[in-house]
Amino acid sequence: MAERGVLIVVSGFSGAGKGTIVKKIIEENDNYALSISMTTREPREGEKEGVSYFFVSKERFEDAISNGELVEYANYVGNYYGTPKKYVEDMIESGKDVILEIEMQGAMQVKTRFPDAVLVFVTPPNADELKRRLMSRGTESEEVVNKRMKRAYEESAFVDRYDYLLVNDDLDKCVKELHMLIEASHHAPNCSAGLLKSINEQLKIYA
Ligand code: 5GP
Repeated sequence: MAERGVLIVVSGFSGAGKGTIVKKIIEENDNYALSISMTTREPREGEKEGVSYFFVSKERFEDAISNGELVEYANYVGNYYGTPKKYVEDMIESGKDVILEIEMQGAMQVKTRFPDAVLVFVTPPNADELKRRLMSRGTESEEVVNKRMKRAYEESAFVDRYDYLLVNDDLDKCVKELHMLIEASHHAPNCSAGLLKSINEQLKIYA
């Protein structure tokens, strides 16, 4: 039976470039699966149902919460976002490493429920660069950009709750570093619980 996959949380200030990093690491490696979130936010231009997100009504989202369909969820700048449970569980069971690209409140719920998950936070090199990246998307009003900058300020106080910090000033370097962190986490003893149990059994005769 395949070893279970690792659960990886990638968070970062909105505009830090985590989406680009995650997209690239998935394109370059075949052992990753990306969880598609459910959200009540309106689709942006070019976003596709079931690819970018599952876009749902507030009522449908609240049903998913009460039915226990979500691994975690959060309200972010006025909208709900959450991770559907079934896909994550199936993929991990089949040995895939599952990446959740989610914000901080959700990340903390994952950390509590799945203590072995690897939590990575992505930051741009400085605040001006963050604002520049948010503005250059051109998809959000200045009011929304400012809300996201305020949110980034609030989040910056809690980054030390993550396991790793990646500074995104060079995309290729960042992707390599993320891949290395994930590879390393496969060597945590609890990832090889089956092997350890068997070695323990084999050693019993020497006890
Ligand atoms: P955006 O509206 O820019 O697509 O996403 C806003 C924030 O919500 C981002 O920080 C994104 O990572 C986060 N997010 C996306 N999906 C989820 C999710 O399923 N759960 C949580 N907690 N946050 C999410």
